[in-house]
Amino acid sequence: MRETDGMDPAELSPGIAALSRWIDDGNQHRDPEAATWARLAKITEEAGEVVAAHIGATGQNPRKGVTHSRADVEAELLDVAITALAALEHLRGHDERSLDLLGDTLEATLRRARLRD
Ligand SMILES: [Mg+2]
Repeated sequence: MRETDGMDPAELSPGIAALSRWIDDGNQHRDPEAATWARLAKITEEAGEVVAAHIGATGQNPRKGVTHSRADVEAELLDVAITALAALEHLRGHDERSLDLLGDTLEATLRRARLRD
């Protein structure tokens, strides 16, 4: 997986919203409800790619051997995260708050785990 210095954190939610708008623009011919279902189903497709990459990275299929790397698994996990956050932007009308909401959920989860006051 290619690593860079990364985006400015302030640009993350707008970037995810821009990606989501681009996907929606390319699917304007679809029924809106079908388009939303497709956005949600895509998350599951990406999750399947995580499992496929892990199977490939560990050589669990003797016929295929090792076909993927740990970096492939990591990249697929990030695809899941981006796909889910983009679907969130889709549902919320692209208000560019997906990372703020992720932060809120992480904070609540840390509190439930008693890792934060
Ligand atoms: Mg993928």
